[in-house]
Amino acid sequence: MSSNAMVLAVEDLSVSFDGFKAVDGLNLYVEQNELRVVIGPNGAGKTTLLDLICGRTRASAGSIKFKDQELTRLPEHQRVRLGIGRKFQTPSIYEGLSVFENLEISYPRGRTVFGSLFFRRDAAVIERVREVAGLVGLGDRIADAAELLSHGQKQWLEIGMLLMQDPELLMLDEPVAGMSVSEREQTARLLTRISANRSVIVIEHDMEFVKRIAHRVTVLHQGKVIAEGSMAHVQADPKVIEVYLGH
Ligand code: ADP
Ligand code: MG
Repeated sequence: MSSNAMVLAVEDLSVSFDGFKAVDGLNLYVEQNELRVVIGPNGAGKTTLLDLICGRTRASAGSIKFKDQELTRLPEHQRVRLGIGRKFQTPSIYEGLSVFENLEISYPRGRTVFGSLFFRRDAAVIERVREVAGLVGLGDRIADAAELLSHGQKQWLEIGMLLMQDPELLMLDEPVAGMSVSEREQTARLLTRISANRSVIVIEHDMEFVKRIAHRVTVLHQGKVIAEGSMAHVQADPKVIEVYLGH
């Protein structure tokens, strides 16, 4: 992992809401094919950090470089096009559409060509939908309406919708909240598989889950990184125990 290229470099990043610094001079470096977990107490600035990276929130100061390209002034849709995918806490799937249709509409626009090439391109979309459905464990639910899926399966479908865009950086905010034990285990395996081909940033509170998936862990507190490293390293850090793990 250590010899891999840097995909994301966040430096001196800050954002203020009415004078309150939710993210305060933060640095974060994520490598290719790395699965990074961000932890920290409520209000630490975790979700705001993802908002800043995906462009939902504008930074007050600092730099966000994605593969050496500065993102801070780019609108959200351009960051998506560059290869940044973001899953929010509440799933945004189309309940009335099938699993197939949900994945199909997530295929990047502009890659489907109408006219003489239509049939061939259409076959490519179908193949990609099948591939992604299998990857997220919904291969046998492809024809079912999304509303028939369990809570965990709906989360996987949304991850699949993001994977249709083949992002190089995928960010997920508390993906296992509300999931059963077995769904959590399947999600851990899914995220591990996904990070073989892309970088992943996960915000999570479930420490057992974090232990299973994280390559490295970053601990946020009051908008700053207070510790970073292996799970064992951050778990043994007195500051981390005091502000987070001790509770
Ligand atoms: P976390 O995800 O770590 O729980 P958040 O990033 O959601 O924390 O929030 C960090 C801090 O910033 C909190 O104190 C929150 O109330 C504040 N905050 C987040 N977004 C906004 C906003 N749009 N306007 C004002 N305050 C905000
Ligand atoms: Mg949050």
